[in-house]
Amino acid sequence: MEDCLFCKIISGDIPAEKVYEDEYVLAFKDINPSAPIHVLVVPKIHIQDVNNINEENVIYVSKIFEAIKEVAKICNIYDTGYRVISNCGKDGRQEVPHLHFHILGGKKLS
Ligand code: AMP
Ligand code: ZN
Repeated sequence: MEDCLFCKIISGDIPAEKVYEDEYVLAFKDINPSAPIHVLVVPKIHIQDVNNINEENVIYVSKIFEAIKEVAKICNIYDTGYRVISNCGKDGRQEVPHLHFHILGGKKLS
């Protein structure tokens, strides 16, 4: 996807502060954090949103949830806890149309 911001981060065309990476997944710091720890975890293929997860690409989602635990350990929030959010579509206020999971932590969230 040529015009996708997160595809450009994955390809290295746009810089990001990487937290974790493997064959399937990239995790990087949110540029506008809404908690002391705010990391985005994305699949390394373009999937638009939760509505577009299917039998063929669900392996990426499974890998994302394994990666989320790793990110939590790296960011020292594994034991204190955290929140995982994926916004979808207009009413979900999804701004970037590349599937991503927000990991929020580092304080007691409201
Ligand atoms: P959403 O509203 O769920 O689509 O969230 C998109 C998130 O991407 C927001 O929290 C933004 O702050 C974040 N974001 C936008 N551009 C960048 C960027 N270049 N690097 C890191 N995070 C970004
Ligand atoms: Zn994309």
